[in-house]
Amino acid sequence: MDKTVTAEKTLKVVDGDKAKVPDMDGLIEPVADKPSRAEAEEAVRTLIKWAGDDPDREGLRDTPDRVVRSYEEFFVGYGTCPKTILQRTFEETDGYDEIVLLRDIRFESHCEHHMAPIIGKVHIAYLPHRRVIGISKLARLVEIFAKRLQIQEKMTAQIANTIDEVLEPKGVAVVVEAAHQCMTTRGINKPGTLMVTSRMLGAFRDNASTRREFLAMIGNSQSGEAAFS
Ligand SMILES: [Zn+2]
Repeated sequence: MDKTVTAEKTLKVVDGDKAKVPDMDGLIEPVADKPSRAEAEEAVRTLIKWAGDDPDREGLRDTPDRVVRSYEEFFVGYGTCPKTILQRTFEETDGYDEIVLLRDIRFESHCEHHMAPIIGKVHIAYLPHRRVIGISKLARLVEIFAKRLQIQEKMTAQIANTIDEVLEPKGVAVVVEAAHQCMTTRGINKPGTLMVTSRMLGAFRDNASTRREFLAMIGNSQSGEAAFS
């Protein structure tokens, strides 16, 4: 791996005890005073004016409507319970007890501090204990947590904790690498910088060789292992 790229990465290890999923169902209750669509569109008009433009000019006339529709997509994850996604498991595995890995799951999220995009990929591995899960369900789980206002550390922990709780495997490992546009396009303006977070549970936390195998499988052994040494 290119040394300079590695050096640019900000390594953060999600602390095992602090990073608990806040609501154990993972479903956030809808806000009681949810504004109407018209109110949301009006808020976008206000932001356009705040930026210094005229929301009534032709090119911007339909923008509030489009922005509100985009928000429905960006934040669709609030409406789904992550745990139910993992409910269906398979027990006929012929004794398969090696690492199951889903690598390079692309995600788009939004940081809860600036509402700017976070774009990156997630690697998820688990060590099965009698049952396995359809791999598309793991990608779906990422989607549910990503399509919310997030910080990367919390999202990493939420993904790992949910799998750990529902599937009860021998171990779970989650690594997230992402670019934060609040950092690459504004503020300190550092394009090319990736933040890497990880959460290791069970065998991946306790057993160095299991962890190393996982990190080798995602091709990230250098930066990943550094986080645990
Ligand atoms: Zn931010």
